Amino acid sequence: MTGLSGKTAVVTGSTTGIGLAIARAFAGAGANIVMNGLGNPDDIEKVRRQIEADFGAKAVYSPADMSKPAEIAEMVALGERTFGGVDILVNNAGIQFVSPIEEFPIEKWDAIIAINLSSAFHAIRAAVPSMKKRGWGRIINTASAHSLIASPFKSAYVSAKHGIAGLTKTVALELATFKITCNCISPGYVWTPLVEKQIPETMKARNLTKEQVIKDVLLEAQPTKEFVTSEQVGALALFLCGDDAAQITGTNLSIDGGWTAG
Ligand code: NAD
Repeated sequence: MTGLSGKTAVVTGSTTGIGLAIARAFAGAGANIVMNGLGNPDDIEKVRRQIEADFGAKAVYSPADMSKPAEIAEMVALGERTFGGVDILVNNAGIQFVSPIEEFPIEKWDAIIAINLSSAFHAIRAAVPSMKKRGWGRIINTASAHSLIASPFKSAYVSAKHGIAGLTKTVALELATFKITCNCISPGYVWTPLVEKQIPETMKARNLTKEQVIKDVLLEAQPTKEFVTSEQVGALALFLCGDDAAQITGTNLSIDGGWTAG
C-alpha cells in the first residue's frame, strides 16, 4: 500500500466525481490535500471536512477557476504556503459539451480547451519548481479514452484530451532525471455528474431516449458493459504515486472496460 505521509497533493476539480475519489484515496494514504473545484461553498466545506474526519488528513480548498492562469498559480502557491511544498499534482478538472461541429458554440470550444488542457500546462508550470526543489514529484493528468480515439459531436473535448496526452509525454521526458514522473489516466465512462449532464445533450444531438443513450451510446463502447468507478480511478492514481511506479512515466493508462482495445 502506497504511503503518502508528509506529501502534499493538489487535485484540481476535486469537489465531485473522479477528482474527489482521487483526493480521498490520497488522504487515505496520509497526504495533505489541496482541493479545488466549483460548487456551492457549503457543500464544498462539507466535503472538505469529511476528508479530514474520515482520514485524519489536512485538506484546504482553493477556489481557483481553471480557466484563469493567475488563479491556477495561486492554487499551487496555497499548497506551498500551507504545507511547505507541492509533491503531487493531479490535473483533473474538466467540462464537456456535445454538439455538431457547425453549431458548436465558440465560447464552449474556448472554455473546454482552457479548462481541460491549458489549465494542466499552467498548473504543471507552477508546481514543477517545488517538485524539483524537493527532488521528487508525481504529475497525473486525467485524460480520457477520448485521448486515444474520437466520438462524434465532441470536437473540443477530444481535441483537449488528445492534447493532454501529448503534454504528458513532453513533460515526462523533460523531468525524467528529476525523479518526477508524469502520466495520464484514461478512463472510459465513469458514472459521475459529468456523464449524467451530457445525457440530455446526447439525447438531443442523436434524437435518442435516456435509456438508449446509456445502453447504445455510453455502454455500447465499453465491452464490459459496466461503468468504471471513481474509486477504481483513485486507486490507480494512488499506485502511480508509489515507489513501485517510479519507472512508469510518459504513459497513457487506460481504465476503460476494454473500450480502446477494440
Ligand atoms: P465532474 O463534473 O464530477 O467533476 C469535474 C470537476 O471539475 C468538478 O470538481 C468541477 O467543479 C471542476 N471544474 C469544472 N470547471 C472548473 C473550473 N473552471 N475551475 C475549477 N474546477 C472546475 O466530472 P468527472 O467525470 O469527475 O470528471 C473529472 C475528469 O475526468 C475530467 O477531466 C473528465 O474529462 C475526465 N473523465 C471523465 C470520464 C467520465 O466518464 N466521467 C471519463 C473520462 C475522463
